Amino acid sequence: MSERYNRQLLIKHWNQEKIKQSTVSLVGLGALGSVAAASLAMAGVGTLILIDMDTIELSNLNRQLFYRAGDIGKPKVKVSAQIIQELNSEVNVIELFMPIEKAPRHVLEASNVILDGLDTFQTRRWVNSFTVGANIPLISGGMFSFLGNLQVVIPQKTPCLECQSLIPEEKLQKACTPFGDMRKENQSDEDNDEYIPYVSSVSFVIGGLMAQEALKILLELPPLENYLFWDGEAGIFTPVPLERREDCIVCSPRYQLQAIPIRSPTDQQISDFMTQLRYSFNLSSEMALLHQTQKITLSEEKVGDILESGAIFRIVDPTLSAPLKFVINLD
Ligand SMILES: [Zn+2]
Repeated sequence: MSERYNRQLLIKHWNQEKIKQSTVSLVGLGALGSVAAASLAMAGVGTLILIDMDTIELSNLNRQLFYRAGDIGKPKVKVSAQIIQELNSEVNVIELFMPIEKAPRHVLEASNVILDGLDTFQTRRWVNSFTVGANIPLISGGMFSFLGNLQVVIPQKTPCLECQSLIPEEKLQKACTPFGDMRKENQSDEDNDEYIPYVSSVSFVIGGLMAQEALKILLELPPLENYLFWDGEAGIFTPVPLERREDCIVCSPRYQLQAIPIRSPTDQQISDFMTQLRYSFNLSSEMALLHQTQKITLSEEKVGDILESGAIFRIVDPTLSAPLKFVINLD
């Protein structure tokens, strides 16, 4: 074994071969992603998959460890890959310069752990539903001003991000309004980012913890169970116990096997029914209703004209990685 790892080999339960055989995906190579990627590369993780669609901007440089003024305009994944190779040339790096939703699924599914250091709730929600569906542990970190948070999701064992209201519903709904969609089209995440206070000291705390939890999972050590909240101003870590929601639309075993029941008056207009679904399940304005492979569009028609009681239909939404299956009961 390389002398490079001598000091970590002294840690109880360490298994360098296991770390070397592992693949970790990092979704978002911003402040948290850079710190976590640096730490995992130095520890000798065999393969790091980097997924980010952004290019480097001047306002990133106060906190995003990997980037220099000369890198402005370059893709984050490209510059990150170069730095990782300098930190540890034994690491195999895969660069995916694209939105996570467009990344090849078989590449993502090869991950032993996925880390998300994202700053948009819609994308975080997609990653959560993907990791639960693919049965891959997820480590989700966030930061804001002097505050930070961390949650580890072990599919079918611990609560997923959708189980709690930790994905703030008002933010999702805001993102689902026409205004939200306009912002999304006209502005990049980096523009939105200008309104959020960030400092690098918090990214080192939370990014470091994300890497630590990833290494623990790779070493088969018990991961963090609670949602961990860090108040950097007070200097306090607060573990917040979480519970799985039995009717969670993403991780409930019931809804993975069976359709989600929904009621509607027979004479309700399809457009009102769609609005009911959107608000009940926090779906986006781009959601679509599919019935027997037909897409049902907003119309004056009544629910009872299209669906009969007991009919199964699906909702496809860009904030979720898989369609939701419903069964309708008409009143
Ligand atoms: Zn859940």
